[in-house]
Amino acid sequence: MSDLHDVLILGSGPAGLTAAIYAARASLDPLVIEGEPSSTGDQPGGQLMLTTDVENFPGFPDGIMGPELMMQFRKQAERFGAILKTEKATRVDLTEQPFRVWIGDPEAAEPTYRAKTIIVSTGATALMLDQPNEQRLLGHGVSTCATCDGFFFRDHDIAVVGGGDSALEEATFLTKFAKTVTIIHRRDELRGSKIMQDRAFANPKIKFLWDTEVTDVLGDQSVESLALRNNKTDETSELAVTGLFVAIGHRPNTDLFQGQLAMKDNGYLITEAPSTRTNVPGVFACGDVQDDTYRQAISAAGSGCSAAIDAERWLEANE
Ligand code: NAP
Repeated sequence: MSDLHDVLILGSGPAGLTAAIYAARASLDPLVIEGEPSSTGDQPGGQLMLTTDVENFPGFPDGIMGPELMMQFRKQAERFGAILKTEKATRVDLTEQPFRVWIGDPEAAEPTYRAKTIIVSTGATALMLDQPNEQRLLGHGVSTCATCDGFFFRDHDIAVVGGGDSALEEATFLTKFAKTVTIIHRRDELRGSKIMQDRAFANPKIKFLWDTEVTDVLGDQSVESLALRNNKTDETSELAVTGLFVAIGHRPNTDLFQGQLAMKDNGYLITEAPSTRTNVPGVFACGDVQDDTYRQAISAAGSGCSAAIDAERWLEANE
């Protein structure tokens, strides 16, 4: 029979590791299934592993590199006894207590782990363009987070790709820093809301390139320009920019929980505010997997703390 854990945490970004720190300090011996590196950019440590300087995480007045910050989270969780496993869950069964989690073969008769409570902190993955050099230059001019990285582009010419509210919001935010922001959209009509469109159209720093696709991101050490193609005329061109913000949406990592945990239409988990409770008693969710509003490391960490406290109280009430 597989080991029975009080608290099993799925995911190891700021939410999961903060939950681990709190659960470990409460002597709940949390087990963290931290994920595995994958070709889609998912990896232990979450989205901060893909950024460079983090300047808005309180406590680091001089900034800290994203991967270094996650290393500190990890060390702090391990110091109090959290066990981290570099594994990816392939199946969960939340239909009865104890919950069951499989690693490897999802059809195996026996689960790998059993747990009285589960904290889901599997995060979200920014959708990317899948262009040849996009991954290579991620953190070196290519970004998926204007709030995190906009500051580095003071007086630069930069571009945002996408035509939804995220792209419009990011572009508008980025005009605080950049000299110009070119929104590159694959159609000739925006998807974003009217108010956001009006705001972007009225902003003298924002320009639009319609019916245009980014076919490559060019630059040796950092972004120098974008290769573009007009999908109506097939005309190709190059746009000199030092930054590319990809804002074509995020995908919450919730495939594992389909049919078991309540989700919004967009796939984000539903929690019972102001708690981290899901629709299954004993299962809690924190971080970006349940947050399509703020999506910040610090808000994820805060909800991770809440999830650990919710799990601790649930165990006390149900033991
Ligand atoms: P979204 O509404 O799905 O828009 C994604 C945009 O990216 C679309 O314009 C889409 O083009 C484009 N796109 C998708 N895949 C692409 C690709 N491979 N190459 C080039 N372009 C691509 O996503 P979102 O903007 O992140 O917004 C998600 C949700 O959050 C929406 O409901 C939005 O209203 C909400 N949101 C609200 C606010 C706010 O109110 N302040 C801010 C941000 C987000 P097409 O238009 O051609 O499909």
